[in-house]
Amino acid sequence: MTDGCDVCEEAVKHVTTAETVITFHMERTVVYGSGRKATNLKTRRKELLAKFCNHVCALRNSGGGFLLIHFTGNKETGSRDLNAFDELVDLRLNAMIEDDTLFVDNYERSWLNDRVVILKVKSSPSCSTSDFKTKIPLDDRLIDPSARNIPNLYNLTPGDRTPMLPPQPQVLIDWSQDVVALHESRSIEMKCWGIGFVVPSDVERKALLIWETLKLRENITAMTKLIRGGSFYCGIEEELVDTGDYKLKKSKVCGMTLTEGEREDLSRILLHKVQTDMMWTNRTNESIGPPVDAIQILFHKVREETFVMEVVITFFDGLVFYDKAGPECYVVNSDLTPRRVEFSEWIQRVRPE
Ligand SMILES: [Zn+2]
Repeated sequence: MTDGCDVCEEAVKHVTTAETVITFHMERTVVYGSGRKATNLKTRRKELLAKFCNHVCALRNSGGGFLLIHFTGNKETGSRDLNAFDELVDLRLNAMIEDDTLFVDNYERSWLNDRVVILKVKSSPSCSTSDFKTKIPLDDRLIDPSARNIPNLYNLTPGDRTPMLPPQPQVLIDWSQDVVALHESRSIEMKCWGIGFVVPSDVERKALLIWETLKLRENITAMTKLIRGGSFYCGIEEELVDTGDYKLKKSKVCGMTLTEGEREDLSRILLHKVQTDMMWTNRTNESIGPPVDAIQILFHKVREETFVMEVVITFFDGLVFYDKAGPECYVVNSDLTPRRVEFSEWIQRVRPE
């Protein structure tokens, strides 16, 4: 478990406990770096945080214990500043508390020596989840569910989810206009295209950009929870209009330049991802795959070879995850490494019969 690291091995010796002790390496430049020297800092930080959370999650689900965090790449400054570390991990640690207890009663950290921080992790009373891999819509943004939302999300009947207001009359949109009367809400998400990023020429990479970077997959998990479903648009830019006293947004059609072949390929690749890169589970916790017509892809013509793509997402009576293995939840293995638990095990823990 210490992977032959002398610093970790030495640190473990100093912790006398009957509880589980596991070690973890954190690179100083990734946690504390400003980006001037480290490349891909954002991605590396995200990956490191995910891995860190998996270790903590495993401890919480295995009776609690200690995580020894070895800060590697230390310059010998003698500083014991943990601000950047706290800023990185605190909210995620807090999100792994699934009852009403406080952060301060579940975690405590302190320096063991100049290189190693010891983090005491309390045991979970039920099941801690590292990443739910499903989102909940607000009108402004998508958020993560809490553990307590999960049984509710399965148990609601479509009747329980009847919207509180009657539906708005459908307005037919004229896509050849510069500005369209659309605004973001729980059921409408708009993405600009080619503004602030370079559009890849390859259609596979275009699809990946929409799926991951523009978060189509997260939006699908969120909008399948709405009784009326929703639409994810690609090719609309939100522009701020300054009235002098305040600012409002207007939705400008910028469109995507796509040939007929590219439109077909893009549809095919994205619909394939809906089948292969997601998990669709019904009320009885079975993974059943997406229903036919769960997702439709339309291209609205703006002008010659320029289109707004609309992904129409329908309500799904169950729970959808944007990972084919479902949520990320871990326990500590006999070799003291985190092991991801199967969906069937996770659902039994968070939704006991
Ligand atoms: Zn080490």
